[in-house]
Amino acid sequence: MKQVAQRYIHNRTKAISVDWYMTKRCNYDCSYCVDYLHDFHSPNPPLEKMKLLVDAIEDKYWYNVQWSLCGGEPMIIPWFYDIVEYIGRSMPDEISVVTNGSIPADKIIKNFEFLDNIVFSIHFEYIHNKIEETLEKIIAIEKWRREWNDTHDKKKTFIARFMVYPGQLDLIEKMWERLVEEDIEKIEFRNIRPQHGVTNELRPGQNELILGDNTGSVSTADKIKKKAERRSKGYDSEVFQQLIGRNSFYTQEEFDRINSWYKHKTDAKKRNNIERYWEDGSVTVDHYNTMTLNKDNNYKGWTCWAGVQHLKVDPDGRVFIGSCHRGGPIGNIYELDEGFELPTKPTVCDRTWCGDYLDLRVPKAAPGYEHLLKDYV
Ligand code: SF4
Repeated sequence: MKQVAQRYIHNRTKAISVDWYMTKRCNYDCSYCVDYLHDFHSPNPPLEKMKLLVDAIEDKYWYNVQWSLCGGEPMIIPWFYDIVEYIGRSMPDEISVVTNGSIPADKIIKNFEFLDNIVFSIHFEYIHNKIEETLEKIIAIEKWRREWNDTHDKKKTFIARFMVYPGQLDLIEKMWERLVEEDIEKIEFRNIRPQHGVTNELRPGQNELILGDNTGSVSTADKIKKKAERRSKGYDSEVFQQLIGRNSFYTQEEFDRINSWYKHKTDAKKRNNIERYWEDGSVTVDHYNTMTLNKDNNYKGWTCWAGVQHLKVDPDGRVFIGSCHRGGPIGNIYELDEGFELPTKPTVCDRTWCGDYLDLRVPKAAPGYEHLLKDYV
């Protein structure tokens, strides 16, 4: 059966989603995080430029925006609080942040006042010597969130997310048990993948979109080897020692164990949220993982509302209509001025695969079926 349209079920107000990689700078250097997403030294975008981007989006959409903020590490931007406060003034639909949780709990909590969702990613290459401190931090933030939710109408969400690190599964299980005991409402696990090759090999066909000199970037295997040999810099080389010489990130035993966690330790209810329209008039609601797994994510030639209902700001500050980078950059936050304009019309997809979760949520329809989405675009 041929699919002819799709949309994200939690966007009835035609809100725009903004996937904003606020800075490339990060205080961590996880071996499984690609080089084009983080470094130690990139400058943070100036606050005034960040405000210009917010203004341009609010001029057109006002509060009807789903902000998704990440990095690098967004919370180490010295004016992060100022920018979330600035965004928060319009009372947008949603402001979500993904953080490595490295700043003190009281600072995270202060930011949380303006945020709806925080995802606290637990990165084992950097917290191995601070396990108890990390758990205490998560518990303190969750406690604050519950108290907030008891007294406010608009509820906040907090997710503790384990980046499932090979060799650390016993520790993860112990931490998970403690967090469950402490009544942490949402705990997630996220697979990580080793990065084979250097940056330009990681994004085939998109080399021209990577800025800067990436010739010095190294693969996960090389990073792990280098880090295992050193004992300074705030990370624990023993974490890396366990991975040396592995051909794949997870052993079969680990793979089976992680799969059983996914079955028993996570919310069993599937979070299906992509409504798909079929040629025979039927409608299904599916999970994006199922779609990408089955390679049901090719929309070449379809009308796509990326740019109108979605924007991506990459770690180098370039603004695109989506993570697919269709049409190239439409602006750059470092050069932004009042003349910056947002797209007003949908585009025609010219990509083979639409792989990013937020891109997949953008409404899209095969030629001749756009009317199916008339209430949502
Ligand atoms: S790849 Fe880009 S243009 Fe194509 S459907 Fe996805 S978001 Fe739209």
